Amino acid sequence: MLIAGNWKMFKGPHEAREFAAQIRRLPERAPGVEIVVCPPFVSLGPTLQGLGAGSAIRVFAQNVHSELEGAFTGEVSPPMLLEIGVTGAVVGHSERRQLFGETDETVRRRAQGALEAGLAVIACVGETDSEREAGETERVLERQVSVLPRHDRLVIAYEPVWAIGTGRTATPDTAQEAHAFVKSLHPTRVLYGGSVKPENARTLLAQPDVDGALVGGASLDPGSFDAICLAAAEALAA
Ligand code: PEP
Repeated sequence: MLIAGNWKMFKGPHEAREFAAQIRRLPERAPGVEIVVCPPFVSLGPTLQGLGAGSAIRVFAQNVHSELEGAFTGEVSPPMLLEIGVTGAVVGHSERRQLFGETDETVRRRAQGALEAGLAVIACVGETDSEREAGETERVLERQVSVLPRHDRLVIAYEPVWAIGTGRTATPDTAQEAHAFVKSLHPTRVLYGGSVKPENARTLLAQPDVDGALVGGASLDPGSFDAICLAAAEALAA
């Protein structure tokens, strides 16, 4: 079971270090749950400092370039992340796809480059509201998932775009159905993302094909992130 907190463009270096110091021992209270936080680039180092050497929490970037180095203004490479102790990256988040022109092909390349360099990857997929309404969910998931490399360090996050930051969580049945479909295309762990909160985490995580969660808004508060990680441990133990 994996719980990853996506901090998006929140928490600068100072706040990130303090938050990390507050949650550093959380894994000891959530047995069996792998915990990851994904701060903005400038806050990656301070987050690692706040966690300290003894914490089992891993730190991932929110994006990563595919090349090792080069003339790619504004980008950060896999070895640069590894050098400071970051062990993974999110690729293809719907905000990157919708607002920053990421395509299935750029997501594939980023995932491939990151994996080859030794990072873990959380690759995000998911349909929009209109695609779901039009009955195109499976077609969209198939298109997005089919390009992703097969690798034991790649995890997929199913994040229906209509559920991200909207408070409109997928029902456990809807999530289960989509996860089973994604796994039929690509046998790997599949996280659910989209308005996961302490109140709904337990039932979502109890679904047989839900292997964890990618949490945005509710990961910004130490109390709610804590509660979601404990709910994951409960779902595992049940
Ligand atoms: C996300 O950013 O990946 C996400 C799922 O956000 P939220 O939990 O706020 O819907």
